[in-house]
Amino acid sequence: SPQNIDVLIIGAGAAGLMCAANAAARGRNVVVVDHANKVGKKILMSGGGRCNFTNMEVLPKHYLSANPHFFKSALARFTQWDFIALVLKHGVAYHEKKLGQLFCDNKAQDILDLLLDECAEAGASIFTHCDIKTIEALSAEHAPARYKVATSLGDYLCESLVIATGGLSIPTMGATGFGYQVAEQFGLALKPRTAGLVPFTLSPTQLEQFKDCVGNAAEVTVTCGTQSFTENLLFTHRGLSGPAILQISSYWQPGQNLEINLLPQLDLVDYLTRQQQERPKVLLTTLMSELLTKSIAQSFCSFVTEIRPVNQYTPKEIQAIADLFHKWEIMPAGTEGYRTAEVTLGGVDVDGLSSKTMEAKNQPGLFFIGEVVDVTGHLGGFNFQWAWASGFAAAQFV
Ligand code: FAD
Repeated sequence: SPQNIDVLIIGAGAAGLMCAANAAARGRNVVVVDHANKVGKKILMSGGGRCNFTNMEVLPKHYLSANPHFFKSALARFTQWDFIALVLKHGVAYHEKKLGQLFCDNKAQDILDLLLDECAEAGASIFTHCDIKTIEALSAEHAPARYKVATSLGDYLCESLVIATGGLSIPTMGATGFGYQVAEQFGLALKPRTAGLVPFTLSPTQLEQFKDCVGNAAEVTVTCGTQSFTENLLFTHRGLSGPAILQISSYWQPGQNLEINLLPQLDLVDYLTRQQQERPKVLLTTLMSELLTKSIAQSFCSFVTEIRPVNQYTPKEIQAIADLFHKWEIMPAGTEGYRTAEVTLGGVDVDGLSSKTMEAKNQPGLFFIGEVVDVTGHLGGFNFQWAWASGFAAAQFV
């Protein structure tokens, strides 16, 4: 016979566990189910195993959504300081790496343990190896129960049903389109989904041009449309990666060019003009190898008609050399896709959800939280902060 509970949460990841702990702390009878063999796999693999769990500065500009106001309410009601307070409560050692990014000193497991301890303390139950078969909205006569969920572990009747099944990235870690199917079943709109925070691939010709640069990095400013990021770029054997590239990938559409400034901290015309006076006999490649790795300097110098001592270039030629390094235009062939993407852009259309409760406007008792929603953060701890904040918001109303 079906089990009667208050809240069923599908997905024991960042958002689901956060919601479970807080709903149970309100005295709600909460069950979390996950189809994977263990919970929180993405937390464990995040931040290179150290989990970049939040950021010192969380602003609207760090998020993408069809409605750039939707996420503000939840983020304001559960801030990075609230999560840091939890981290301190559990004695998890952490540090700021760069750009406000907070990481565990030891391992990501510390963050998962924190969530599981909070769930245990509040009395939320968690079950793995649970496949969802069907979801049915119940008629009013079953109140307070509103949903019947048939699972491989038995049937549940619940008042609130929370979908926290995440996005499509890294299918080998258990990612599925389940949350989007539930949204469609109940008539919620979806925004198109694509891989975000993902490396770019290059064409065979482009790869040949930059083959000597593989493994080399530079701090660059990469621009696509009106968006720019200054961070590291890494040449790989398949294309371009590194934080600057992952960030801009969330703003890139197929067919668009990237403009990359390989020396954003320097005015190269100015610099080379000064070198013409100070070190006139030094070869251009030698000078450029002082500013960038030797392989990057040589690969880009190969686009210069002739390598000469620096004093033998005209001002016009110096300008052209500077443009090569300051305004490198490249059109990626594509992205690596969900196989390596950190996030999924798009998802459940926020117009169909309450920004206060995360509940579907047309479907009382059905909630969507975390990455399944059309809210995507930049690299730097912003995706977890959204998972914590949206999970906490829903927890107050389930
Ligand atoms: P998830 O954490 O993905 O949890 C979803 C859960 O639902 C999973 O446990 C899954 O097994 C379960 N599930 C899925 N389908 C079903 C189904 N059909 N039935 C039952 N259960 C199901 N973000 C940061 O902020 N900082 C980082 O350092 C960072 N590093 C990352 C590194 C990598 C390699 C990746 C892939 C992502 C990283 N992210 C990072 C992004 C972050 O992990 C996600 O945005 C976040 O985990 C989303 O939380 P969620 O709870 O919505 O989904």
